[in-house]
Order: sequence, then structure tokens, then C-alpha cells
Amino acid sequence: MKISAIYPGTFDPITNGHIDIVARASRLYDKVIIAIAESKNKQPLFTLEERVSLAQQVLSELNNVEVVGFNNLLVEFAQQHNAQVILRGLRAVSDFEFEFQMAGMNRRLSPELETVFLTPAEQYEFISSTIIREIARLHGDVSSFVPGLVKQQLIEKFSTE
Ligand code: ADP
Repeated sequence: MKISAIYPGTFDPITNGHIDIVARASRLYDKVIIAIAESKNKQPLFTLEERVSLAQQVLSELNNVEVVGFNNLLVEFAQQHNAQVILRGLRAVSDFEFEFQMAGMNRRLSPELETVFLTPAEQYEFISSTIIREIARLHGDVSSFVPGLVKQQLIEKFSTE
């Protein structure tokens, strides 16, 4: 049986931490779908189209990886794509409580869908899109945390501030 995993998130923007998780998952599963949530309530810096396009470009070399935007319920999206696994990244204990709650709720909504957690390589553990946006907003150097393309887009976003 072919196993497809969905990696959902806001990816505002995609970072080297996200990419590390995707690379690990692409070795474990037949197909990995990066599901980029519209997340209107979070008022993302990048539009959904921009976030999808950035992720597509930086992940283009992984050929069993697909990037899709979505704005419906995750378990519904998983069913539509015949996925068996929801993938999430765990950085620190602070991620755990929320992730545990989400995994429990998604299991209630869709019992046959498994949530699997992966941890990134050590050097990515402290990276979050929120911190990266903050550094870029203050014109700091984000070269070690995001691909060059993402860095350029961040510079453009904040060039008028
Ligand atoms: P969300 O709004 O769903 O938290 P994010 O884009 O912030 O969306 O994160 C998506 C997933 O990627 C989450 O499971 C998060 O824990 C994980 N993640 C984010 N940054 C990293 C990182 N540096 N290393 C590993 N996992 C990460």
C-alpha cells in the first residue's frame, strides 16, 4: 500500500526547519503533501499564493513532494487526498501541549488518520517563521535560517519600512 502524508501549516514563510522535516518525510513516505493553510486569522505576511509559490520553488528537487493551499478542515482535506498520515514537526517541549491537543482532536474527527511527529536536526530546533519575520522586519540577516529565495522575498516585503 502506498502511504501519503500531509504536512499542514501556515509556512509564513517556509524555513530551513520546515524543509528539514519535509526532506525526512520524503524518505519515509511515498508521497508528501505540504498543505498550506490560508490562516486568515493569523494575518499572514505572505499571501496564500506567495507561500505556496515559495514552498514549490524551494522544494522542487524533491519529486514525491507536492505543495497545495487549503482552507477547509484538515481531516476533510486529508480524506480528499487519500492521505493516511498527518505530519507535524516538534521543536521543543513548548510545541507539545498544542500539538497533543490537535492530534487528539483530529483523531476524534477521523480515527483512521494517524498524526506522526518528526524532530528536525539540532541546528533548526530554534527556527520559527515568527522569529524569522521579526528578524527580517528589523533588517537582520536571515541567511542561515531560510533559502536565498525566501530571504529575498522577506527583504522586499520590508524594504519600505
Ligand atoms: P502552524 O501555524 O500550523 O503552527 P507553522 O508553519 O508555524 O504552522 O508550522 C507547521 C509545522 O511545522 C508545525 O508542526 C511546526 O511545529 C513545524 N515546524 C515549524 N518550524 C519548525 C522547525 N524549525 N523545525 C521543525 N518543525 C518545525
